[in-house]
Amino acid sequence: MQLDALWNFMQVDMDAERYESGMRNSPNRLKLLRQRDFLVEQQGNMKKVEASVATMADRLEVIKSEAARLQGRLDEFLTELKANPPQGREEVEKQKRAAQKLTESLSEYEKQLSQMRKDSEQYDRMQKDIRTRAARTKAEYDSLKQAYEKEFNESQKKLAELKTAADNEAKKIEPSLLARYRQVKQHALPPMAQLNNDRCGGCNMSLSAATRDRLSNGNDIVECDNCGRILVFRA
Ligand SMILES: [Zn+2]
Repeated sequence: MQLDALWNFMQVDMDAERYESGMRNSPNRLKLLRQRDFLVEQQGNMKKVEASVATMADRLEVIKSEAARLQGRLDEFLTELKANPPQGREEVEKQKRAAQKLTESLSEYEKQLSQMRKDSEQYDRMQKDIRTRAARTKAEYDSLKQAYEKEFNESQKKLAELKTAADNEAKKIEPSLLARYRQVKQHALPPMAQLNNDRCGGCNMSLSAATRDRLSNGNDIVECDNCGRILVFRA
């Protein structure tokens, strides 16, 4: 009976399937993927910090030249003041206010510059931090990758053996039945199910009377009404 051959094929086919899924979920592989994500993330972080540093460097230039310009004006102002001392109380007050304004602006720039120096130190620390973490992860990644490559090559060999075994079983099955199996396999794993007290052994739903009748005739390939698995009677 073709269904028996298909059932036997399914055992080896599922072996290969499970093995392949185990390979995808190998702890080493998952760890490598996490480390790779982490490294990519650190690259992104580094770019962000570099962009902030560049922006700050531009601002620093602007503020430095503004501060120099103000300092020049203050110097001029003081020289002028010495050459032509203000006359009268009102004039003295006016010059005093002007000098004060210049000094306040200058000290505002000083404050900004000192804040930027602090920011700059912080950016340095951040960059150093990112570099250290990335280098540590990269070293772990490289050594794990070597071990994983060995593991992967061995797994590939084993998987190829399992697939060959499945192919050999598949040769015993009519192509149309095999095609049907492959179609079911796309949405249900495993693609075949035994009967379990009139229930589908795959999804556990009760089968309709019509489906049970077709099944007991034994001439037909019958699929579960609910999950679409190919149903088999097994003692
Ligand atoms: Zn079912």
